[in-house]
Amino acid sequence: MTTIPLSIDLWLINQRWSYPTEVCTCATKLIRSSLAIWQFMRTLLGELGLEESTLTDVMSSVFQFEVKIAEIVAPNSERQNILQIYNKVTVSELQAMSPQFDWLSILRSLASPHAIDANDELLVYSIEYIKSLSTLIENSDPKVVHNFMLWHLAASFVQVTNSRMKEAYVKLYNTVTGARTGQEQWKDCANIVSNKFSMAVGALFVREAFGPEGKREVSEIVAHIKTAFKESIRYNGWMSEETRQVAIEKANAMDGKIGYPDYILDPEELDKEFEEVEVDQSNFLQSMVNQARFSLRKSIGKLSKPHDKDEWRAPPQIMNALYRPSTNSMVMLAAILQRPIFDSENLKALNYAGIGFVVAHELTHGFDTHGRLYNQDGNIAPWWSEESTRKFEERTRCVVDQYSEYEVEGTGMKINGNMTKAENIADLGAIKHAFNAYRTQVMESGEEEELPGLEKTNDQTFFLAYAQNWCTNRRTESSKLQLITDSHSPAAYRVIGTLSQFDEFSRAFSCNVGSNMNPEQKCSVF
Ligand SMILES: [Zn+2]
Repeated sequence: MTTIPLSIDLWLINQRWSYPTEVCTCATKLIRSSLAIWQFMRTLLGELGLEESTLTDVMSSVFQFEVKIAEIVAPNSERQNILQIYNKVTVSELQAMSPQFDWLSILRSLASPHAIDANDELLVYSIEYIKSLSTLIENSDPKVVHNFMLWHLAASFVQVTNSRMKEAYVKLYNTVTGARTGQEQWKDCANIVSNKFSMAVGALFVREAFGPEGKREVSEIVAHIKTAFKESIRYNGWMSEETRQVAIEKANAMDGKIGYPDYILDPEELDKEFEEVEVDQSNFLQSMVNQARFSLRKSIGKLSKPHDKDEWRAPPQIMNALYRPSTNSMVMLAAILQRPIFDSENLKALNYAGIGFVVAHELTHGFDTHGRLYNQDGNIAPWWSEESTRKFEERTRCVVDQYSEYEVEGTGMKINGNMTKAENIADLGAIKHAFNAYRTQVMESGEEEELPGLEKTNDQTFFLAYAQNWCTNRRTESSKLQLITDSHSPAAYRVIGTLSQFDEFSRAFSCNVGSNMNPEQKCSVF
């Protein structure tokens, strides 16, 4: 069988470029019988120089190998519990469980110039997978493994190669997601630069779109949401006293980062961040390869340094917010602090339904099925009493059952309540904390004027604004993909799932007890 020379470090580096690869893996699962992935592989391998006479053979063996890998990967829903996947092992232990790889040499070549020792500790999220993978590789033809790696390397770089390879990828992507056209080239280019030189692009964005005033106002909202959250903990009636106290301390200790890291507005500091990346203006692919190497080395370099709790993991131009359990901190990026989520001129009802909900969602993540296993310093350490754990699990089961019942229109599929439980718990708590914080603010500063022409009370406007923020349009194929891969429930169920469990919503819209949006039995965790 034909093989093509391949650099192992380049291949490992590019496992970080996971997006196209994920699409490929899902395509394998979803449309095994479809021609789309075959056509994609055929184009890629042909472009890499494989002769037509050997192409089908190579493709078939790589495809079979890909299916075998898919079979030994535990599904997302089985990888939810950090206690089950947090396996610290030394490099020597990893070597013993997986002798088919020369781990120390691989890691040393990747980490250079940082030193890696056989006693250095690594996290292996699935020991079972590493063992199965090693056995699979041992029992496979080395040429097939080689070609599989080459195929993934090429697939990872497909968006920055030539137009034929890119077109082949767009066709596969469209088949999997239901999209009808490719993205315009300028958007692709902007995305690539924004991903690879993220903080530099972030600085341009922040200068244009986010001022210190916004930072101050959002800080106030964060403080009010924290107060509402702590009130709900104080009076939730199911936590034991000792757990309740620690939960409140953890909420107090939670750091809230808003907008952007200050250093990005200092050009010298920003230059330092990228000084080791070589950009060749006449060779796009090479520049991307250089960037990928730089990025992996930077990441591996962190192994020998203390955990940087002030590091921002995402740039300000991403419209998102996140909670990071290992630092007990939440981040609201500048791009989400805009209309319709937040605006200084908005009614409080709109801002609390928008950014208020977002903050409350991230805060509640600190106490969901995953976040609750970390203490206030971001270390995995038990702080829940047995009784509180039992009650939490009971309440979580209610949420899992509730969401597992939702069948998503047009897909014939139901939500995976287990895979989405942490997000659903965060949503269910957040809508209450955001609403309660909003009510408290209105009580203190007086009821606001209603929006003209809407003929809704401000409470009703709060819920409408919340629902409107989730307005989304998705094709069926994309929804199916989301149901298999995303830990969030589909947008419509983030509205139905939360509001139907919240008495204040039923009160605002006079929903009869027993109706769809006001069931007699409700789920509530926080
Ligand atoms: Zn979330």
